Amino acid sequence: MNQKEIEQALENKEIKVYLQPQFDLNSEKLVGAESLVRWQRGAIMVPPSSFIPFCEQTGFITQIDQYVLETVCQHMQKWKQKIPIAVNESRRHLYNPHHVEELEQTIRKYGIEAKYIELEMTETAIVHDIEAAKEAERKVHALGFKVAMDDFGTGYSSFSMLRQIEIDILKIDKSFVDEVTQDKRGKIIIETIISMAKKLKMTTIAEGIETKEQAEYLKTIGCDIAQGYYYALPMAIEEFERRYLA
Ligand code: C2E
Ligand code: CA
Ligand code: CA
Repeated sequence: MNQKEIEQALENKEIKVYLQPQFDLNSEKLVGAESLVRWQRGAIMVPPSSFIPFCEQTGFITQIDQYVLETVCQHMQKWKQKIPIAVNESRRHLYNPHHVEELEQTIRKYGIEAKYIELEMTETAIVHDIEAAKEAERKVHALGFKVAMDDFGTGYSSFSMLRQIEIDILKIDKSFVDEVTQDKRGKIIIETIISMAKKLKMTTIAEGIETKEQAEYLKTIGCDIAQGYYYALPMAIEEFERRYLA
């Protein structure tokens, strides 16, 4: 893959935005979705792991993320049922002083309220330049966007991040969810994370739920929201609309 190919892919609309639904663990109602990018390269669906790291290196990720937000907003504008949508924020954005303005312009263009957009940042992105991240967090919060910490618990300083940055939503990484039905220590850890999140008034989302047992356990310990193959795979926006918003 080279720069030209990926640029052309975006131009030719081969880059697709998928949505993976999120459900309230108690009521099992749809409460949101995460946008995830795909590259439809002929018959092949290229996963983000095969091109996002390259795009992060070149900086082209900023164009991809902008395209994702724009596509999401375009669709949200038509929805009668308002649900929040999460977008992944590359670390690259933290170093772009105009990024917050771009976010605001995009949602304004489509008449979307900021509270319906959740900006997912990973701990590694934040830790890389904590001052830039703090500044970005203050600005997006002032505009009303929600901030989520993605892959919580996988880095070296997840807890230190929580102290320094105001986070609305904690996305508990799949690696914790995987362990939850077998491992006693794993259970204690995830229970503690959820209880802490509650005290800090953060919403908890468990990622990568694949079994009923995991879902049930997470419900008993008070996790708020579930996302994973057990419920639904990421899907094309049109299919998401058909299945959940019709
Ligand atoms: P992520 O943000 O942690 O996204 C969650 C990943 O877990 C997604 O993979 C999703 O398809 C997958 N997943 C969801 N439920 C399950 C499950 O039950 N089991 C398993 N095994 N996997 C599950 P995906 O779509 O391949 O995305 C991988 C990563 O690529 C994302 O991780 C995110 O870091 C990055 N990414 C995806 N789309 C974008 C984007 O638009 N912008 C940026 N900057 N990064 C993106
Ligand atoms: Ca994410
Ligand atoms: Ca994640």
